[in-house]
Amino acid sequence: MKATTSILQRIHSGKLIAALFCGSLLLCGAVACGAKPEPDEDEFMAQRNRMVETDIQRRGVSNPAVLQVMRTVPRHEFVLPQFRRRAYADSPLPIEAGQTISQPFIVASMTEAVNPQPTDIALEIGTGSGYQAAVLSPLVKHVYTIEIIEELARSAEEKLQRLGYDNVTVRHGDGFLGWPEAAPFDVIVVTAAPEEVPQPLIDQLKPGGRLVIPVGPTGQTQQLLLLTKDEAGEVHRQLLMPVRFVPMTGGPGAETE
Ligand code: SAH
Repeated sequence: MKATTSILQRIHSGKLIAALFCGSLLLCGAVACGAKPEPDEDEFMAQRNRMVETDIQRRGVSNPAVLQVMRTVPRHEFVLPQFRRRAYADSPLPIEAGQTISQPFIVASMTEAVNPQPTDIALEIGTGSGYQAAVLSPLVKHVYTIEIIEELARSAEEKLQRLGYDNVTVRHGDGFLGWPEAAPFDVIVVTAAPEEVPQPLIDQLKPGGRLVIPVGPTGQTQQLLLLTKDEAGEVHRQLLMPVRFVPMTGGPGAETE
């Protein structure tokens, strides 16, 4: 009897030690080892407001509608899970397929440059994560966006739908050629850099339309250009700022993967 009791005691105390060990591991995981819980929606909103004030407004973006959209679009939903905490720092971040989501200041600047209006039809080239399309969505009537990497086109489409951006249509294809069936466009935003402005995009711009595009050789700093087409169909170019975008692939003679 005595022997049985002491065996039972040993089993129980073994369980107790194991339970204490597991408990302390969990505690270590949750607190002491730095795995802080993810910020909640209120904290993300506070981070967005700070981002707009310090990184966007202070650096010269002033269109109130653009600033308001930048305060509301949840950029943390468009970055890879491991970068959600850094979603509101003013830097580009990697997304799937080796591509990049642009820096918030650049997204805001390009959006302001094309002066979007509620009745406008917009085209974006380079859907990527879908973030720029989400920013354009509340500012215009409809956004058409083209992505050359199928995996990105599909995941952006799914995300935009899930988040309720229902005036955005995503297509997998080569944006160099534009979207002739939906043309002409009031606004075109290109987020991958070709060496020259693709002629089909100029042709698909409405008189009175605005096109913003980074242009320059692969691997080097590009120039962000604003092209405006006047009512007579003449195109005027304006240099905005030096930028760095991923290169535009595809183009004349290329096969879409
Ligand atoms: N606007 C995106 C950032 C895109 S990065 C965002 O907000 O996240 C540029 C994207 O352009 C990449 O996803 C790349 O695959 C795409 N791209 C490059 N060349 C293209 C082409 N010819 N047509 C369409 N998309 C292209």
